[in-house]
Amino acid sequence: MSALLQVTGLGKSFGGVKAVDGIDFTLARGELLALIGPNGAGKSTTFNMVNGQLRADRGSIRLEGAELVGLKPREIWRQGVGRTFQIAETFASLTVVENVQMALISHDARLFSLWRRAADHKRDEALALLEQVGMRAQAERPCSELAYGDVKRVELAMAMANSPKLLLMDEPTAGMAPKERNALMALTKELVTARGMAVLFTEHSMDVVFAYADRMIVLARGRLIAEGKPLEIRDHPKVQEVYFGS
Ligand code: ADP
Ligand code: MG
Repeated sequence: MSALLQVTGLGKSFGGVKAVDGIDFTLARGELLALIGPNGAGKSTTFNMVNGQLRADRGSIRLEGAELVGLKPREIWRQGVGRTFQIAETFASLTVVENVQMALISHDARLFSLWRRAADHKRDEALALLEQVGMRAQAERPCSELAYGDVKRVELAMAMANSPKLLLMDEPTAGMAPKERNALMALTKELVTARGMAVLFTEHSMDVVFAYADRMIVLARGRLIAEGKPLEIRDHPKVQEVYFGS
């Protein structure tokens, strides 16, 4: 069976720095793939090339065979690549002029009522997504009142809005207590199975990676130095040396 995502010879430099230096990996449907490595290894650069925020200098990123390199973030999103946004970032995904447009719409009674009607139309869909992440009962509460772990669940529901084939999560459990972390990753795993999608995530907590990743790839200085199942990676001498610093 062909891979959902196929990355080949992917590279990006900033000035003289080869942030990502020709990496290859694949991702299958139903798989949670962790991208790990020390600071400056090239994780965020890789991530941002997949979601289209950065354009690759070389190589290819194919989703179900279709090339993503050269597409705009919005086009990549439409092809079925979702990503979690922090709720505070929701309006950061709009352009400067769109943010000001939002402000104008909210002050124009006629436009605002049109917007309300459009929003009502999507309400049932939104409630169904909240049901899937266990947040249906809290649907009417302001996000500002939610516990941090619950905010993360809402973010996950938002990322599901375009029924992604591939979901990108940059440090999904950052700042969470171990119990909340496990609940979020268990939920993510459930969604992956239920929807037959795939997840690419970066993660600092090795406990989370070892418990939830099906497979992991390890970057160091822009190169892919190891790839395998968590247990294989843990004992990999190159990983011990470069990543765990022993
Ligand atoms: P990680 O996410 O693994 O910590 P990054 O992908 O952020 O690593 O960075 C990889 C390398 O590329 C680092 O040396 C970093 O300093 C450099 N880098 C990343 N983004 C930029 C940028 N916008 N301009 C210049 N250098 C960058
Ligand atoms: Mg980073």
